[in-house]
Amino acid sequence: MSTTIFTKIIQREIPARIEYEDDEVIAIHDIQPQAPVHLLVISKEPYPTVNDVPEGQVQLLGKMMMVAKQLAQKFSIAESGYRLVMNCNPDGGQVVYHIHLHVIGGKKLGTMA
Ligand code: 5GP
Repeated sequence: MSTTIFTKIIQREIPARIEYEDDEVIAIHDIQPQAPVHLLVISKEPYPTVNDVPEGQVQLLGKMMMVAKQLAQKFSIAESGYRLVMNCNPDGGQVVYHIHLHVIGGKKLGTMA
C-alpha cells in the first residue's frame, strides 16, 4: 500500500492537530473543516478504501466508530447530533486513499444529496 498524507501524519512527518491516538487509530482535526467540529478517525493500517478491509479486520471498523462516538462526547455534540461519513472511491468523493471516518457536527447539517 502506498504512502499517504495520513501515514505521514501518523509518522509525525507532517504536523496535525491530534485529538486521540492508540495502537490502531489516530484522530485529527480536518485541515479544511466543513463544520465547527470536523475530525478524522484514521486507521493506522493504511487500507486504501473500506472495500479493502478484510473480514478478519471487521473489529477495526467498530473501533473507528467507538472512537468517533467518544470524540463526539468530548466535543459536546453527542446530544445535538453529528454525522459519521466514510467516503469510498471516486463516486463517494474519496480524496485520500487511506481509510478514515469523518466526524462532523456542531451545526445543523443539511440533508444528504
Ligand atoms: P476524503 O474526501 O478522502 O473522505 O477526505 C479527506 C479529508 O482529509 C478532507 O476532508 C481533507 O480536508 C482532509 N485532509 C487532506 N489533507 C489533510 C492534511 O494534510 N491534514 C489534515 N488534518 N486533513 C487533511
